[in-house]
Amino acid sequence: MSLQKKIGIVIDDDFANKNYPPYPHPTFLSYENPSRIQVMMDYFENIKLWENPKIVKLSPRYINDSILQLAHTKYYIDTIKRLSSFGSGILDDGVFITKDTYDLAKKAVGGAIEAVEKVIKNEIDQSIALIRPPGHHALREKGSGLCIFNNIASSILYLRNELNYEKKIAIIDIDDHFGDGIIQYFYSDPSVLYFSIHEFDFVENDIGFITELGEGEGLGKNINFPVPMGINDNEFLIFMDLLEQILNEYKPDLIIVAMGFDMHFSDPIGNCNLTSLAYFKFTKNILKIAEEVCNGNLAFILEGGYSLIGLPFCIQAVIKALLKDEYNPPLFEKIKFPNISKIDEIIKVRTSLENLLKNYWTILKK
Ligand SMILES: [Zn+2]
Repeated sequence: MSLQKKIGIVIDDDFANKNYPPYPHPTFLSYENPSRIQVMMDYFENIKLWENPKIVKLSPRYINDSILQLAHTKYYIDTIKRLSSFGSGILDDGVFITKDTYDLAKKAVGGAIEAVEKVIKNEIDQSIALIRPPGHHALREKGSGLCIFNNIASSILYLRNELNYEKKIAIIDIDDHFGDGIIQYFYSDPSVLYFSIHEFDFVENDIGFITELGEGEGLGKNINFPVPMGINDNEFLIFMDLLEQILNEYKPDLIIVAMGFDMHFSDPIGNCNLTSLAYFKFTKNILKIAEEVCNGNLAFILEGGYSLIGLPFCIQAVIKALLKDEYNPPLFEKIKFPNISKIDEIIKVRTSLENLLKNYWTILKK
């Protein structure tokens, strides 16, 4: 067996070519488009990523409809299929359908499955699935927020049902938005921990409150860390030591990162001020934790992130951290943001959250 580290990257030309939003002008819907993957693929060619012997190129697994039914109702799956064969459609709450949607969304589920299965079977060390459309807002019977099928929920239900994999799994959701789809699959399931950091509207409210802690046996296993808009790299990373303590106690066998890059300062949808360095540092930290608690079993599944300028650097930062290489952010990111500190607000959130979690986590009882 080779001792050389292997990072698997799941990618497919269809993600860079299919399911163009049917809107020519920039809108919320139009940002979820094939160029998101194309710019990353172009960048990989530029930096000759595929020549790196530690990088393994993987393809999405072909799956049949019965796998989709693990996370979605037959009626909903058939609805997506029908609208795709019709050629267009809008499901409510920001979900567009084109002739390619059904096939591509199914392929995205296959991509997430490939990424997690290769890791738990130790065929690779860590994986990254560069798939679209994203999934973390999708519900069992409904698409939502640019998401069709719930890629991460589907991949976990696949492990459970098809591979009889019963070990504990932690999902860390760093997308700018709260993963209101994922949370609903595992809210009462103690074998899946969900930890989300997300931008939160503290003035007009939002969902993804700190008080959404799970239910029944799952109590304490749903952890929301809402942050105010405009946070910077250092403020983003404040959740990290709390997460580390919890993962040390929970001891999952697999960590899945719901990898959204829409907190990047150049993102057209998110309102935060991160640079790619934040994703580098996050990945470095989560890799260290994964190596300590679960033999490095770590899979990154792409969710949001819509800046065609920022995406190549964000993904490069994640890959560099997994390879344990140095990372130098591009010059354009070295800008000074207005210094409006959100630290006090974030510390308040963390303190309140820790107080709530003390009831469920021994490690947090002082
Ligand atoms: Zn998002």
